[in-house]
Amino acid sequence: MARFRTLDDIGDRFDDLRGKVALVRVDLNLPMQDGAVTDDTRVRASAPTILELADAGAKVLLLAHFGRPKGERHSTMSTSMVLDAVEDVLGREVMFVPEIAGEIVAQAVGILGPGDIALLENTRFWKGEEKNDPDLVKAIAANGDLYVNDAFSAAHRAHASTEGLAHVLPAYAGRSMQAELEALGKALDNPEKPVAAVVGGAKVSSKLDVLQHLVGKVDHLIIGGGMANTFLAARGVDVGKSLCEHDLAATAEAIMDAADTSGCTVHLPYDVVVAKEFAANPPSLRTCNVHEVAEDEMILDVGPQAVEALGDVLKTCRTLVWNGPMGAFETQPFDAATVALAKTAAALTREGSLISVAGGGDTVAALNHAGVASDFSYISTAGGAFLEWMEGKELPGVKALEAR
Ligand code: ADP
Ligand code: MG
Repeated sequence: MARFRTLDDIGDRFDDLRGKVALVRVDLNLPMQDGAVTDDTRVRASAPTILELADAGAKVLLLAHFGRPKGERHSTMSTSMVLDAVEDVLGREVMFVPEIAGEIVAQAVGILGPGDIALLENTRFWKGEEKNDPDLVKAIAANGDLYVNDAFSAAHRAHASTEGLAHVLPAYAGRSMQAELEALGKALDNPEKPVAAVVGGAKVSSKLDVLQHLVGKVDHLIIGGGMANTFLAARGVDVGKSLCEHDLAATAEAIMDAADTSGCTVHLPYDVVVAKEFAANPPSLRTCNVHEVAEDEMILDVGPQAVEALGDVLKTCRTLVWNGPMGAFETQPFDAATVALAKTAAALTREGSLISVAGGGDTVAALNHAGVASDFSYISTAGGAFLEWMEGKELPGVKALEAR
């Protein structure tokens, strides 16, 4: 990854930020229930960036999208819905501005003093946002002196507020973006070897690009979850009524061949936890060798012997990237393999022998469930952007911040 500019580079361009207007793209797409924010993690992630700029005397204008209004105003998707949450987290008063460009924003800038913060309206109320329309980019930029992107989670989109602005204003990565890029860089771009990747979850089809990219990058590819069934079936294992994409057998073979060629060892489970019905603690629950799965059984978790062997693999590695649970972890006891492997990874990280990076909606939930999320070196909550990074794709919002 090329070097990208951070807040530490602002001094190259500005002697003093006092009174300068910083347009700061943040992630305020917060989960809500009955009109109240249920999780303010994303605001907390960007608070250091916002406060650092404000404390340096900048007038901070926050830009964010909220929901999918598709280019039209919807009162239920106004960023004013999250204003209270933003004020609570920052511990400062924040002015709400119902526009993102034009005279109203200019007037607000005139009212704000150095160090003051304003929240602009949902960028996606304007059609030009998702089209990265140069006219909208120019109109937003007209009210700012510099642009800071602190929303890694939106960096896989080339939108006006995530990419376009970086080309017309001096542009910098915020602290949260910087932390994410540094952590991900350490995990795959420039990792300490050997590197292990755990890829699990439901389906091969949703993670084909991830698998294809990883086999060329890592030393050990640990495949679990429903997608392991597709690989097992491709190797001639009868997986009974397990979730399995039989039509992807050739693809699975090709991935295993590519792994062979690049010296990546693929680990598939050799014992599994099966049941005849998908329910919590079903009476038909048993553990068996993968070759002993009956026609009416389904594989719902990786077995304990395989988990122990995988733990031993992690002990030989210096870096771990993890996306996707090893089993149907939401239902007991099919969380066992995910929890056990997560605990091993957490212990190795605590001892300092492993750098561990994980991401993905269900993966983060699973690691929280295992109680080890805080022991990992880095947990990405970026969803789509994290997956695209795991696919080896260049993220437009990141690319635009690279030092030229
Ligand atoms: P993430 O959101 O972290 O990227 P995915 O969405 O790809 O992860 O996969 C998570 C889902 O995979 C979970 O809902 C889990 O129950 C399911 N899953 C894992 N293993 C199995 C399995 N053996 N059979 C069926 N579903 C599974
Ligand atoms: Mg998911």
